Amino acid sequence: MAAEREQLANKLFAFVEINEEGYAIFDAGDHLLYCNRAYGQILGFDAEVLIGRTFLDIISLCFNSDKGFKSDTDDLDVLLARISSQWRSDNYRLFEMQSHDNRWFLFSEIKNDRGEILIQTKQVTEQKVLEHKLLESRDNLRQLALTDELTQVANRRCFVDSVEAELHRCRRHNYQVAYMLLDLDHFKNVNDSYGHQAGDLVLQSVAKRVTKMLRDYDIFGRIGGEEFAVFLGRTKVEEVLTVAERIREAIADNPLLYQGKRIPVTTSIGISLCSSIAHTYQDLYNQADQALYQAKANGRNMCQFYRVEHDG
Ligand code: GH3
Ligand code: MG
Ligand code: MG
Repeated sequence: MAAEREQLANKLFAFVEINEEGYAIFDAGDHLLYCNRAYGQILGFDAEVLIGRTFLDIISLCFNSDKGFKSDTDDLDVLLARISSQWRSDNYRLFEMQSHDNRWFLFSEIKNDRGEILIQTKQVTEQKVLEHKLLESRDNLRQLALTDELTQVANRRCFVDSVEAELHRCRRHNYQVAYMLLDLDHFKNVNDSYGHQAGDLVLQSVAKRVTKMLRDYDIFGRIGGEEFAVFLGRTKVEEVLTVAERIREAIADNPLLYQGKRIPVTTSIGISLCSSIAHTYQDLYNQADQALYQAKANGRNMCQFYRVEHDG
């Protein structure tokens, strides 16, 4: 029976020797008792060079000769301290490492009750590359889903979600907030007179101009055909009026040059300024929309407040 087991163990060992996956055993004092050829290759050394060394000695050897695995620090002491804190931290650990030649390996570290450690590595480069591509295309899709294709600013969905989140934050501090609704004046005439393509360029240029006028934390988006919206969190009436007037002027004073012709375009802006606690997104939109209607009725190319509440 014992002889049979020994035969089997020998067979198993012979397979381990030639396996493409790396195998290594450390004793309870962290000296490398055994590693197969593949393990040595992964670290960039012959197995004989490694056997007998301590775990930290091997890490230092690899680090000093730019072999083995990449690390995000240039400081060996930092690296050793970090690895020491993880090494032996559990009876079973799984982690991934990237080698200097850009291959990825999945490591499993098993500790037995005598304190010996078996390390097994499996190359997972293909899976990692695939995973990376999937993450990249997921991010691209997410970006596409949130961006207006024509103007490259936030689309309606992204704008509404961002404002809802910001409104929630503003409510905790009872900030006064502002919502501006911009609708280009007689935009149908622009398309009719200069063509749809010119209309598109005007929309792009308006989006660029407004973006330039705003601060990083203001929220801006294209929420309809020729309608844009701006949300300002924690603001006052003077500030809103200044921002709105600057936007209105920037659009009115800078007609787009298209095929040698100037295309004049103006915008009407309806503004809702109110308490974040007492109002929902829909309230803000409705108020701004009514104010916008007033601005259009009063002659266009103007900013119109819905109502002013001094509660901020
Ligand atoms: P008002 O001052 O009352 O807002 O007049 P208006 O002509 O702007 O209003 P209306 O809503 O009648 O027309 C909006 C126009 O915007 C009609 C539509 O063709 C145009 N439009 C909407 N989306 C786009 C777009 O993506 N590109 C172009 N070129 N035109 C667009
Ligand atoms: Mg409109
Ligand atoms: Mg319009």
